[in-house]
Amino acid sequence: MALKRYGEEFKITTGYRLMRDKTLKEKPVCERCREAPSEELYHIVPYDSGVDRMEVKELIFDRRNIMALCRKCYLEMEENRGVIVERKPRRERVKEEVNRAISRLFSDDKPEEKAPEL
Ligand SMILES: [Zn+2]
Repeated sequence: MALKRYGEEFKITTGYRLMRDKTLKEKPVCERCREAPSEELYHIVPYDSGVDRMEVKELIFDRRNIMALCRKCYLEMEENRGVIVERKPRRERVKEEVNRAISRLFSDDKPEEKAPEL
């Protein structure tokens, strides 16, 4: 028996089913091959990488994190995930994000942003 994926329980809810049906209706063609009909929802950031149930739920339901794929593309994408996303505590990732933003802000390689003309 296959191990149940972390967060899988959210996918058997009515809310998820409705969101899935709605997404597949809005995107009837696979977003990857653009040929076959879409059948599966693919989560770009794997939902089981969420550090807690709250984040897992957010990743599952966030439609920006979802692609509508045909069965074949879905399986290929899942297979190609390769690396398992490292689970880091949220505050550590926030710290990294902040540091990246700060270094971008003070980096000299980027052309100075012009103030928008009004
Ligand atoms: Zn496809």
